Amino acid sequence: MEAIVEGSKYECLLFDLDDTLYPFSSGINLACRKNIQDYMRHHLRIEESQIADMCLELYKEYGTTMAGLKALGYEFDNDEFHANVHGTLPYDNLHFDPVLRTLLLSIPQRKIIFTNSDKAHAEEVLCRVGIQDCFEGIICFETLNPPTPTCHGLHKPLSSISDELSSDLDDLDESDSFRPKSPILCKPSIEAMEAAIRIANVDPEKTIFFDDSVRNIASGKAAGFHTVIVGRPTLVPGADHALESIHNIKEALPEIWDGWSESDVVLASTASETTVIA
Ligand SMILES: [Mg+2]
Repeated sequence: MEAIVEGSKYECLLFDLDDTLYPFSSGINLACRKNIQDYMRHHLRIEESQIADMCLELYKEYGTTMAGLKALGYEFDNDEFHANVHGTLPYDNLHFDPVLRTLLLSIPQRKIIFTNSDKAHAEEVLCRVGIQDCFEGIICFETLNPPTPTCHGLHKPLSSISDELSSDLDDLDESDSFRPKSPILCKPSIEAMEAAIRIANVDPEKTIFFDDSVRNIASGKAAGFHTVIVGRPTLVPGADHALESIHNIKEALPEIWDGWSESDVVLASTASETTVIA
């Protein structure tokens, strides 16, 4: 159980995972993008020449390429997608991070992961970095998108997709044009932020949200969080703080530890294995 100090400024820290709790230089992000493109090519049979632009547009418009593909009508199994995209990532590039582990264990507040990634990837990353027991829970893809029987293993006929695709992508170029809604809930949508607030049962005004994504930070600020952009030396719109590395938390946000005694920290640090919130 976490100890809550009366009048404490912050009660919870909400952390993005990828490129926030480990550096972009690990190569995980680039490998993930390549795997998504391979999945689009081999499993969804999307024309090679369209893939790069499509990935970018869908990511920009829908938060993740996967959410965009679903919005366009592609039907595929979510678990199969994640297995393909994350299954061959260079996890060996992630290393045990004793500095981050010590920092996290010294933080008295509730700590929760909030990621668009799936459970298997989140658990693999946390284990590799050695921080799997530093969090109360994980809000991940499966938390926000519980499986439904209707989306299992279905693939839309290819002939019906190709015509829709070019017109849908044209639509994406027009800022005011119609955009099909994705059935996938993910950051940076405000609905995903609100879902995380509800699931974690936090007061956003007493919660700090850490993320490396500029648009996630903007959305997090709109949802009422205190916000910290990670991986950049300077502020971005909606960010209250900027950290070049998550290792710099203590220098940038000493107030996290304000009002807490040593015994509070010991009590808060006796965490068990982090569990996925579903
Ligand atoms: Mg990230």
